[in-house]
Amino acid sequence: MGLTENTPTALLGLNGLDVLPRSAVSVAGVQAGLARSGARVAILAPPGSPVVSSFEGESSASGGRTLLLGPVSAANVDALRDLMPWMRPRPLGTRTSAGFGDRIGLATPGHVRALRAAGGGVAPIFAQQSIREMERTGRSPQQVLDDATWGAFAEGWQEGFGADADHLKTAEDVDACVAAGYSFFTFDPGEYVDDGAEAAGASALRTALEDLPWHDPEDSPADIRGRYLDGAFELEGHEIRFDDFSLARAAVKYGAAVTHVARLYRHLKSAMGDRDFEVEVSVDETESPTTHAQHVYIATELRRLGVRWVSLAPRYVGRFEKGVDYIGDVAVFEDDIEVHAAIARTVSPDGPYKLSLHSGSDKFSVYPAFVRQTRGLAHLKTAGTSYLEALRTVAALDPDLFREIFNFARGRYEEDRASYHVSAQTDRTSGAVGDAQLPALLEAFDAREILHVTFGSVLKEARLHDRLLGLLRKHTEHYAADLEKHFLRHLEPFVDGEAS
Ligand SMILES: [Zn+2]
Repeated sequence: MGLTENTPTALLGLNGLDVLPRSAVSVAGVQAGLARSGARVAILAPPGSPVVSSFEGESSASGGRTLLLGPVSAANVDALRDLMPWMRPRPLGTRTSAGFGDRIGLATPGHVRALRAAGGGVAPIFAQQSIREMERTGRSPQQVLDDATWGAFAEGWQEGFGADADHLKTAEDVDACVAAGYSFFTFDPGEYVDDGAEAAGASALRTALEDLPWHDPEDSPADIRGRYLDGAFELEGHEIRFDDFSLARAAVKYGAAVTHVARLYRHLKSAMGDRDFEVEVSVDETESPTTHAQHVYIATELRRLGVRWVSLAPRYVGRFEKGVDYIGDVAVFEDDIEVHAAIARTVSPDGPYKLSLHSGSDKFSVYPAFVRQTRGLAHLKTAGTSYLEALRTVAALDPDLFREIFNFARGRYEEDRASYHVSAQTDRTSGAVGDAQLPALLEAFDAREILHVTFGSVLKEARLHDRLLGLLRKHTEHYAADLEKHFLRHLEPFVDGEAS
């Protein structure tokens, strides 16, 4: 990136426009920045430069050069990506990484500041949203990616970032995110996971193994037995042995899921052509924990079917509820993940893969164990906590609006909680909250979960949506500062455990 210099002094020509200082950049004789007033992109280029015509907006002559002022639009963020290739999402590989889901689209500047404050060492995914959350917030894959990209531009982030099309379930989901330019694809075959296998008896499972309807014609029960029953899997001193029963249980529980992932993978691969991408496989949103033998089964079968993945999210032991700390015994979690991490370092054909921690917001008590056992081969996924930080900003600046949102959320909770792992109860909260109690409310278990899972309803309620976004747009510094502080707590444990 020798062509760039990220100093305001390089932007004398743009100074009169009140450009955000960290956004100011100079690339091959063209200056660009984000004007604070009215959120416009400003481009200053030599006369006749083809760069100007790639942007939409109004151009005028300015000191012998051409000045263009344009809207924060999809066309202009595309033009920015051509001008500055580091604004294009890219694969991050096995570096320690963190995903910052953002349901509103204004959080990226705070995420960038937290990364910088943490001192580097964590590779970011700024755009990350599941199809479910896109539906709930009425945003398209393209909008999610573009909002995050404007945020990275505003802060002058040039270190690269990924974009995670999260919890993809169908080929149509994949297509929408490929078209938008995502780089990281998380496959969620949860609907094909048979949780009933955990409770099924031995004879029922053996029968099920004999006539697995999902299976590919190239494979047979005899072949499956050969892969798993001939010897033990040696994983850094941990030995995993299958018998007929545990193999049948793994195959019945995850066989169809693995087949579905392979199907999505082949679809993605042909849709991406020669573009680089990376894949995560997640089964975190299922009822029963993924045993170590089942993790070995999943990885072995994915490999056999030609899938290449950079990270995997088993369903770990304990409870990962939304927006609150881990519920369970941290020592038990560490013993469990020690073996998952050994599997992730040994079973893959392409070297180790990362373990991914979904619903990773606010799981402060398990981060150290997670980083220690994965040795930094770790991906942290957060999303809802950035929305909760937006509400913290609201609580400080407009207590009445916060109370309105909270009471609306309490009314929506029973319906909205259905697809989430949460256990809050509205009758343990009260709608009558004084200004002084608001900050404490954002630390309270029930209130956090209630506010967390109702974001979609709140953002679809026009009067709340407009006031909330209006306030955040007006007080960008306040929101960024709240996010920076909160995410520094998330990132610090990961910086120390950075994979080399
Ligand atoms: Zn997840």
